[in-house]
Amino acid sequence: MTKGIDLRKLGEFGLIDRIAQRLPAGAGVALGIGDDAAAFAPAPGQLSLITTDMLVEGIHFDLSYSDPLSLGKKAMSVNLSDIAAMGGKPRHYLLSLAIPPAITLDFLDTFISGMLSRADQFGVQLIGGDTCSSSGPLVLNLTVLGEQSPDLLVRRSGARPGDQICVTGTIGDSALGLRLLRQGDRQGVAIERHLDPVPRVLEGLALAEATIPSAMIDLSDGLSADLGHILDLSAVGARIYSETLPLSDTFREHFPTVTAEALSLALAGGEDYELLFTVPPEKIPLVFSLLEKFGTPVAVIGTITAENTRAVIGSDGREISLNKKGYDHFSSRD
Ligand code: ADP
Ligand code: MG
Repeated sequence: MTKGIDLRKLGEFGLIDRIAQRLPAGAGVALGIGDDAAAFAPAPGQLSLITTDMLVEGIHFDLSYSDPLSLGKKAMSVNLSDIAAMGGKPRHYLLSLAIPPAITLDFLDTFISGMLSRADQFGVQLIGGDTCSSSGPLVLNLTVLGEQSPDLLVRRSGARPGDQICVTGTIGDSALGLRLLRQGDRQGVAIERHLDPVPRVLEGLALAEATIPSAMIDLSDGLSADLGHILDLSAVGARIYSETLPLSDTFREHFPTVTAEALSLALAGGEDYELLFTVPPEKIPLVFSLLEKFGTPVAVIGTITAENTRAVIGSDGREISLNKKGYDHFSSRD
């Protein structure tokens, strides 16, 4: 416990000061925390990117199994992941908190430590926010600002027939981890992936700078839903081959055979925070050579089609229709 100080004594402005004092000095912001608005000079010729994501207690996290350090990292990571999916460079962020009475100063200090450590890892700087009390749940909202030049920005709408569909890392671990947490487990690779996902910021930026992806999105809602967004906005279809889906050793230990249940966790489970992107076939070798430099695995899992198909092809060669939610269609396999 933080002896002698509680949040009530510290007050709103005390808490803001406490956060501000923990920030590294300098780093090129004209006005940070303390005035009515922050001010910074945008880099010449760059578009500003801005994204916000809110974590609400009881909806996105449960304090019975989410520790404040991981929560701080995750709040940062889910926002950074959106900048990564644009191929952008994250630069600044804002933090807004709605704090119920049961939350201790100790909890907040640790949450801030997690957030700052992940921010520091990717060179982003806190420039402001808002702080209030909550009569309901704890609400943690981050807004991340980034930049990229207009010609390098990667949209969801650029996928073309014949493009290959790639995904970084492995999928389904976070959903498996959440399931294990709810069953009472507290440790393991899958749980770690759920509580502390690491965003693919460097990979997204490098892919964009090498003009490799035709479209890109980060996996927050599950591969089938997020691929659906690319397909909708690009007006194309896709065929995914279930055998090529990248599943971790941990995932395969839980599911030695890829059952319908395993497929639904991998395709519709969500919160993977991997990058899903489409690539013209001639650039596929570049994808492997580039991501190898980061030690980041990448899998080619399917092809973009001209017709509006959304199919997962099973190991038996049968087609399974892929709907936007994913989940229900796979249960019809059994
Ligand atoms: P106002 O009343 O004008 O909205 P505030 O008192 O909310 O101003 O904020 C004062 C300063 O503190 C501003 O620079 C704001 O960006 C910053 N701030 C408030 N809450 C936070 C927070 N949770 N994290 C970082 N900066 C914050
Ligand atoms: Mg305010």
